[in-house]
Amino acid sequence: MAEHRAVAPDEDPVCGMKVDVAEARKKGLARDHAGREYVFCGKGCLLEFGEDPETFLTEGYVAEM
Ligand SMILES: [Zn+2]
Repeated sequence: MAEHRAVAPDEDPVCGMKVDVAEARKKGLARDHAGREYVFCGKGCLLEFGEDPETFLTEGYVAEM
């Protein structure tokens, strides 16, 4: 399995925003990938992540808004 960079449990891996995990789950903005849960600030980031999760988890990817 590829090395994943460190993403905090409450961090949106796409844009780097801090996310309220409970809120995200309620809104359907949480998603399981590679054995853990990732949360997103909005549908845009969720969809981007869904298209190619590894892009955002690769060591060296810099989350930007
Ligand atoms: Zn985001």
